[in-house]
Amino acid sequence: MKRTTSRLSVSLFFLVIQWCHPVLAVVAPEIWAGSANGTVVYSQPQLPGCVPNVATTSKTFSVSDVQLQVSGSLLTPGSFTATLTATTISGPTPGVQVTCYDSQGNITGSFVVLANAGGSETGSFTINGTSDGQAVTANFINVLNGRFGTITGTIQNTAPPKLQLTIMTNDPGTNVVSDNGTATLTLRQGIVAVINGNPNTATILTTPSVFTSIESPYGIGASVLPITIECQDQSGNTVPNCMVDFDFDVMEGSGGHVHNTDRPTGDFSSSECGEPFVQHISCDTGAGVALLFYVAPEASGITETANGTVSANGLSNSFSFTINVQYDGLMPANGPGLVVDIASHNHGNNNGWASPATNEALNYMASLFSDTLRAQGASAIPVIEIDAISLPFGGLFDYAADQVGHNWLPPHISHRFGNNADVCIKVGSDCSHGLTKKQRKALASVLKYADFRLLVEASHWHLIGPY
Ligand SMILES: [Zn+2]
Ligand SMILES: [Zn+2]
Repeated sequence: MKRTTSRLSVSLFFLVIQWCHPVLAVVAPEIWAGSANGTVVYSQPQLPGCVPNVATTSKTFSVSDVQLQVSGSLLTPGSFTATLTATTISGPTPGVQVTCYDSQGNITGSFVVLANAGGSETGSFTINGTSDGQAVTANFINVLNGRFGTITGTIQNTAPPKLQLTIMTNDPGTNVVSDNGTATLTLRQGIVAVINGNPNTATILTTPSVFTSIESPYGIGASVLPITIECQDQSGNTVPNCMVDFDFDVMEGSGGHVHNTDRPTGDFSSSECGEPFVQHISCDTGAGVALLFYVAPEASGITETANGTVSANGLSNSFSFTINVQYDGLMPANGPGLVVDIASHNHGNNNGWASPATNEALNYMASLFSDTLRAQGASAIPVIEIDAISLPFGGLFDYAADQVGHNWLPPHISHRFGNNADVCIKVGSDCSHGLTKKQRKALASVLKYADFRLLVEASHWHLIGPY
């Protein structure tokens, strides 16, 4: 068999890294990435009998998206497995596809040391090693042309960590270039989106805005929620020059609003992210932090779902968050002597939620009402029917949403905090139970003791209770 020996020097892969990793329990894979630049010098295939190892051509290459996934830590003594992925080497150079095998002969990955003629190649290989012994070996065989060889190297476990590899191949074929080279990978960590302090996913609560009511225990006006999305590496360092990109939308059916025509979103603003925003935000963070302000709508619910990515230095990660617009702590009102209608126009069976204080007040009112009537000699005590309080998370209660001009707008102006309750006075379309004149008088006489104020409305009494 004719044999040609030639040599490739893969001079340098330089990968830049940020590293200050505390010693951690070895569990979760760490994503590292870097870029590589170098020069390949290789020999042309030699004719039979010629002198080998004469470099005749060189090729400069650059790689920007090299990633190394480490199960374990390069800085923690002990074994680790590293998988190098997306090794892309562009350029019309001869190449060798390397396939890596474990000790049982299973294929664990492949990569391309040099691109085949034209275009670019990607691949991956797996190396096993220890971080303290700094030994790295991987055997590989090229399934295409039968090349084989080893990758050996050292791990430099001081910051920044490096993986210095020597790639040695034999060429059992004829007139085929073989590849011997070295690569130094200096790595940088993967990226994490930290949303108001939460890595990659977050649920953020805020209260609704109050624009169309003059009464609010929580204040009138805009409910403004600051949201920061910070790009961090896995050690918690801010990653500058990071792009934050996400889509957002309201979640239909949330907050008890089963009607969804033209449901209003909240409004995002940011001085640094290129307003206006219509269901999408793309932000060049500069220093690595996107600062946004979110003005909640008046209606409660999961009012914003956001899905997007952070990206920097050729790395990206996905993130998502929701903004739940709500008043916390409302409960289904109920108690002896009370009938609470949970069904409501355009809002399913989501009516009847009260603040605990108002629920308690309703119960006290019912007991005082009963006591008063009994003291007056009544033989039967009627139930008090309540046909409107609040939705499960409060907020604007647009029960007349199907009427012109009332979709996502009042009436029911202040039925949004769990402390407004409508009591049926006359039997009618919404009320099965009414009260006689004498019963109304008895009810009116006890309201203040139960901490209610009364507004008499056409078909019902509107009670304003505690929150
Ligand atoms: Zn509604
Ligand atoms: Zn009312």
